[in-house]
Amino acid sequence: MMKLNIQMFAVPFRKVSKTRKRMRRSHNAMEVPGMVKCPNCGEMIKAHRVCPKCGNYKGKNVVQVEEAE
Ligand SMILES: [Zn+2]
Repeated sequence: MMKLNIQMFAVPFRKVSKTRKRMRRSHNAMEVPGMVKCPNCGEMIKAHRVCPKCGNYKGKNVVQVEEAE
């Protein structure tokens, strides 16, 4: 895989500024695929599935969810 990287070899960490290090690591975060925000309660849920928190799907309350708290 091609990766645009200015550093071609090991560089002493003091030679890399905080900004440059953080810019490089800005792409390192793991991403969770297929997750969307529930339009009803705002919880992060899997796309195209009924929200497990409020039972909402496509703007309708499909499943009755018991209120735990
Ligand atoms: Zn929801």
